[in-house]
Amino acid sequence: MVRTFRPIALAVLCLLVVAAAAGAAPVRPKLVVLISIDQFRADYQTRFDDLFLPPTAKNGTVGGFRYLMEKGAYHTDAHHDHFPLVTGVGHSVHLTGAPPYKSGIVANDWFDRDLNAERYCVSDTKSPLVGAADPDGKLGISPSTLRVSTVGDELKMATGGQAKVWAVATKDRAAVLMAGHLADGVLWLDDQTGAWISSRYYRKDGTLPPWVSDLNAAKKVDAFFGKNWELSVPPAALKRLWTPDNASVGPRPGLGTTFPHPVNGGLEQPGPAFYGAFLSTPFANGYTLDTAEEIVKQEKLGQDAIPDILAINLSANDYIGHGFGPDSAEVLDVTVQTDLRLSRFFNFLAKNVQGGLANVTIVVTADHGVAPIVAEMQKAGFNAGATQVNKDAVQKALAAELGPGDWVQAIVDDNVYLNLQTISTKKISYTRAEDVAAGFLRQQPGIYAVYTRSQLLDGQMLDNDISQRVARSFHPKVSGELIMVSDPYWVPGRTTGATHGTPYAYDTSVPLLLAGAGIKPGRYTERVSTLDIAPTLSDLLGILQPSGCEGHVLSQALK
Ligand SMILES: [Zn+2]
Repeated sequence: MVRTFRPIALAVLCLLVVAAAAGAAPVRPKLVVLISIDQFRADYQTRFDDLFLPPTAKNGTVGGFRYLMEKGAYHTDAHHDHFPLVTGVGHSVHLTGAPPYKSGIVANDWFDRDLNAERYCVSDTKSPLVGAADPDGKLGISPSTLRVSTVGDELKMATGGQAKVWAVATKDRAAVLMAGHLADGVLWLDDQTGAWISSRYYRKDGTLPPWVSDLNAAKKVDAFFGKNWELSVPPAALKRLWTPDNASVGPRPGLGTTFPHPVNGGLEQPGPAFYGAFLSTPFANGYTLDTAEEIVKQEKLGQDAIPDILAINLSANDYIGHGFGPDSAEVLDVTVQTDLRLSRFFNFLAKNVQGGLANVTIVVTADHGVAPIVAEMQKAGFNAGATQVNKDAVQKALAAELGPGDWVQAIVDDNVYLNLQTISTKKISYTRAEDVAAGFLRQQPGIYAVYTRSQLLDGQMLDNDISQRVARSFHPKVSGELIMVSDPYWVPGRTTGATHGTPYAYDTSVPLLLAGAGIKPGRYTERVSTLDIAPTLSDLLGILQPSGCEGHVLSQALK
């Protein structure tokens, strides 16, 4: 019997071999959706997975994280490979595949030598806000500092502008740095009014799309005023938490310190403090995803043969994490509620994109992780603390060695900018000034390493992870003279609340989940980089990689 089947089996095998050699045509998505969850550390995927929805339900609907983890490509060891681990930089990497040394996005804020002033990563007075009160025209926003293209930019160029590219986030820098230069629409939330706004960079005529204006007029955020954020899981679920009593919470306006958290910002009626409180609740993620659904419907994303891109950032997780820390009931709860909301959004896409989820490529990742609360680590006996580097102290140290003068231009987060004018007038060698400043900074508590510009440009670096990250993140036209890296569990400023920014695993490990069109489901344990997302999407879309792209295509996860 077996023998009679053999020729057929051989023929089938030959066909398969021929097909494989020819390379089967890839499944092109009609819509790519990238969702970045702000401050979502990779371990949240597994620590809370018993509280997530099942991957699929009998009625054909899909779950949230477990749908991606069990029915999609789940990368268990994904990291960002830059420094510092902050929102602006993380979001700039997602869809450019470019580290800061190419993208120019070296931090959330830096000192701009051309402007001779400190600046925010996406501020641009030439691109006034649209939909927000900005009488002095000082608050403009654009991607003018982003020196490379995004997947969306390349898709626009590859399709004669026909592809639609949109982004929505409560944080302007998240939306803008994922969208890039050629996006059709980029929306972020005005924390003074709760309205979706944009800038003239994207809306040349100074108006919002009519459907966005209608949404703003309906004041849907105000409907959350006076509601409570209630714990959504059984109390027994909190047993896994290391520090559930919120003994070291950071400042969170108007939410109180325990469940149920009243969402009013301490006000009698909606106002800026309420919008700030709202942004720190799971309701804000829901509102962002509601608006993402509206974008898909109103702008007709995923409805034709030309692929579209929608980038979304969910920021409530970050605000909540800063306030209560990664081991709090609040972070557990927002994670579980994010799962529910993602499920709802995926099921919306299944119904509203032509051909359903099989035609959508979904990517879920995060811009950075988070460190445990420093005060809690100190209690536990770790070497932990808050670094206190200030301009006056560095100035004094330089003056003591090199003589009087205005030596320090600015210190912005991890970057120290020396005053080049003083160095030149006083005829001090540049490297001498750098070395004096570096020598002083290296002696400060909690500072692990200080890299100088000369050292970075000459490549005098140790061959280790931190040095490579710093080198990969040093932009000669944007970065300072010195880059400071703190010790593990040391953060700038204060020991209560939680924060992120360091090159350690708690800050670098993030989800990298892919599902849908073109994706081969599986659990992949090899270490991968967030730099790999952009080339993988470029491959799926059949377009040129973004200009600064240097990751690898995640070929194991592609059909
Ligand atoms: Zn943050």
